[in-house]
Amino acid sequence: MVSTPIRIALLGRQGAGKGTQAMRISHHFAIAHISTGDMLRAAVRAGTPFGEKAKAYLQRGELVPDAVIVGVVAERLGEPDAKRRGFVLDGFPRTLHQAEALESILLPEGLGVVVNLEVPEWLVLERLASRRVCSVCGANYSVAMPPHVDWTCDVCGGEVVQRADDTEEAIRRRLAAYESATAPLIAFYEGRGLLETVDGVGDPEEVHERMLEALARHGIVGEAG
Ligand code: AMP
Repeated sequence: MVSTPIRIALLGRQGAGKGTQAMRISHHFAIAHISTGDMLRAAVRAGTPFGEKAKAYLQRGELVPDAVIVGVVAERLGEPDAKRRGFVLDGFPRTLHQAEALESILLPEGLGVVVNLEVPEWLVLERLASRRVCSVCGANYSVAMPPHVDWTCDVCGGEVVQRADDTEEAIRRRLAAYESATAPLIAFYEGRGLLETVDGVGDPEEVHERMLEALARHGIVGEAG
């Protein structure tokens, strides 16, 4: 069956559940999960020149410069899986400049939908404090929902840890960066008729169902992948 690629971007504060929901969406539609945070952390771990450039920004909880991230995303979006079946972007775009660059990259079709996962600030603070992630594949856990065996990832066997930027100070900086740089994208995408706002409060399965309903309103439907 020939079908048009699915092109989704997720907005939402740190801790809103973008990673968890993006992973589910990518499995559901069998599309690429493109997380700029995961890509940056992998590059830092691998010690690539790109990782070296990004490291200090990640540690401080600041956004890496647009010029650094846009090129990497453009390259990833040009790979066959993303081009053929589509993708869900998690953590990109995060600035107006990135959103405009993305429009150029995706010409002529553009994004199909942008989902804003809405979660109040007090709840994201609570979630971030208890968040634990796999240091290898990025799977999400929490103190309340740890992996089955001794902080070993259920998915890949990697070590499950607290993220280096989930410290109080870095969290404060990242939330401030979200309000000033990323929140304006809500109006930007609303103006383009692409925005869907989804309540991100509740258990992940419930939120996933809401996401599927929102995607369906933009013609994105499909069976489980
Ligand atoms: P995340 O895992 O999405 O919370 O991203 C972790 C960190 O990676 C952020 O605090 C930024 O330092 C950096 N980062 C991720 N995505 C972007 C982006 N689109 N633009 C700039 N910096 C980013």
